[in-house]
Amino acid sequence: MKYDYLIVGAGFAGAVAAERLASKGNKVLVVEKRSHIGGNAYDEYDEHGILVHRYGPHIFHTNSKDVFDYLSQFTEWRFYEHRVLAQLNGELYPIPINRTTINKLYGKNFRTDEEVRRFFNSVRKNINTVTNSEEKIVSQIGEDLFEKFFKRYTKKQWGIEANQLSPSVLGRIPVRTNTDDRYFTDKYQFMPKEGYTKMFERMLNQKNIEIMLNTDYKTIVNDVIFDKMIYTGPIDSFFDYKFGKLPYRSIRFEWEHFDEEFHLKATSHNFVGNEIEFTRKTEYKYMTGQKSGTTTLSTEYPTSKGDPYYPIPNDENYSLYQKYKIESQKLKNVEFIGRLAEYKYYNMDQVVGKVLLLW
Ligand code: FAD
Ligand code: UDP
Repeated sequence: MKYDYLIVGAGFAGAVAAERLASKGNKVLVVEKRSHIGGNAYDEYDEHGILVHRYGPHIFHTNSKDVFDYLSQFTEWRFYEHRVLAQLNGELYPIPINRTTINKLYGKNFRTDEEVRRFFNSVRKNINTVTNSEEKIVSQIGEDLFEKFFKRYTKKQWGIEANQLSPSVLGRIPVRTNTDDRYFTDKYQFMPKEGYTKMFERMLNQKNIEIMLNTDYKTIVNDVIFDKMIYTGPIDSFFDYKFGKLPYRSIRFEWEHFDEEFHLKATSHNFVGNEIEFTRKTEYKYMTGQKSGTTTLSTEYPTSKGDPYYPIPNDENYSLYQKYKIESQKLKNVEFIGRLAEYKYYNMDQVVGKVLLLW
């Protein structure tokens, strides 16, 4: 059998590429080393019948109508706005930091955006050029809030200090002067009604697409005839680590089940103190809207071992990535796309948008 495309990985990058190319008449083989499609967005029902995200909480949010319309061909949606509480010294505070957070933490009674803006101005540090994630936060809201809500969570999550991470990492979290307690403010915020895996099944269920699960592409690449490859795995692995290993962060998940309808006060609780080694707990029913008298939670323990989940954005890692990128550009019949292949801290919609632009 000859294929027009060999696609490595069945996550968002691989699946959307497969769907686009197959719909144009190309014969596509998708090779995935895990036992399932969906990449890190994979969801399934656990042994208690609760729909969970096996690789941690995935909330779909985008400002792109194109991305939303494209995915809408493969799923109906459930309106859902994500909310997170930070747990600090036994108290819960809205995160991103907003007026409610400040009033509760400092015993203030600010009523307007302007009052909170003045407060931030009184504590923020003037930094001419922001060069790292610590400075990104301190230049907006000062050292105390940085230490309380960001410093320790970040050290746990990334294994390095915030001042070793590029400004874009903590720059993901906005600072608010109003009382908006949503995690995201994107125009489209929805969950796939029957879950991500069902959406991927519909995307990949085409006569021009063949899928091989439980297969590392390296074990079959020499036995398959294809014109072009689309590679969505880690870029350093593709080149057999010839310039050294790119650091990726992984997570170990622990699962808990409770005989109660809801256990947490919001979908996720972020544990921003040092006394607890994990970063966050997530209760999936808030997201999925599933009705049940019992509930399942995941707890995330970040680790440097295990499957790569997060590229670690900073200058040093970026320089190493550039070496691999230059190598990749020499290969005219291989396209590198996605969070691992481009070493970019992409959200799902950004990966979809990128693939749609290409095909
Ligand atoms: P992946 O989903 O990682 O897919 C790559 C696939 O390639 C994997 O299935 C892998 O098994 C396979 N592969 C790798 N090497 C090989 C090989 N040698 N042979 C065969 N197959 C191989 N994004 C959001 O928009 N909202 C969120 O709320 C959100 N939360 C997240 C929470 C966590 C804990 C994590 C880790 C990520 C989160 N993301 C979120 C990001 C989201 O997971 C990614 O943007 C998206 O999954 C990237 O898709 P991808 O196809 O590039 O990579
Ligand atoms: N972060 C933090 N405290 C929080 C929430 C986030 O310090 O309560 C930092 C942390 O470094 C985290 C980053 O901001 O890794 C990005 O957060 P996000 O929620 O976007 O992470 P993800 O969902 O991608 O794991």
